[in-house]
Amino acid sequence: MANRTPIIGGNWKMHTDLESGMRIASEVIDYVDSISSEDAPAGADVVLYPPFPYLQAIESITGPSHVQCGAQDLWIEEEGAFTGEVSASMLKDVGASMVLTGHSERRHIVGESDELVGQKTKRALDSGLAVTLCVGETINERNAGNTLDVVCNQLSKGLDGISADAMANVVIAYEPVWAIGTGHTASPEDAQEVHVAIRAHVESVHGSDVSNNICIQYGGSVKPENAKDLFACPDIDGALVGGASLTADSFNAIIEASL
Ligand code: PEP
Repeated sequence: MANRTPIIGGNWKMHTDLESGMRIASEVIDYVDSISSEDAPAGADVVLYPPFPYLQAIESITGPSHVQCGAQDLWIEEEGAFTGEVSASMLKDVGASMVLTGHSERRHIVGESDELVGQKTKRALDSGLAVTLCVGETINERNAGNTLDVVCNQLSKGLDGISADAMANVVIAYEPVWAIGTGHTASPEDAQEVHVAIRAHVESVHGSDVSNNICIQYGGSVKPENAKDLFACPDIDGALVGGASLTADSFNAIIEASL
């Protein structure tokens, strides 16, 4: 059984301003650095995903710390007439090391297809960014008994053309759509069941070395109060956190629960 380091991501979505973002980031950095030694990180990998305009400023303070800075999205081309879009090399240029693909708000509000998510994932990995691929079912899909089919289909398309070697730079976030920003968290048992299915899917494509090592985060109304029970599940390797990442107190408490 692999010894996976949990990964805790803070997805700020379209929240914060420059001042509050810098304040949250510096309080997270202070906490994470206080529990890390110079060459050994805290026991959890911590990534903040600020809005694009604040990425460079946030990275200027995460850069020398044990906290990483990531981006919430990217476009599939490297350059060109794509008004409003941001490329992988631009993200790397301002210090991002990781990017989210397939977040449910991009799938369900912006209308991104599974195929587009797969293209974004491939582009990011080819460009040297690590990727957190988000998957998850809607409430109707869950009630119809289709959760595992939906999630496995999103994985197949989201990871299309990705080699076993490249999978070392992939994290998967299981985020049931009905749990995101709603206060309804999946029970640890329900989340664990889907995480096992995700790991089995990865094993069927890439073998057990890859599936044992890949981190699978849970996301959906994770808070300090429910984090410990979720992290106690053997296949839950940390969390992608939205609302509770907007104050350092609650985000740091979630990091602490993962240690
Ligand atoms: C998210 O944005 O990925 C998320 C899980 O949000 P929340 O924690 O607010 O449900």
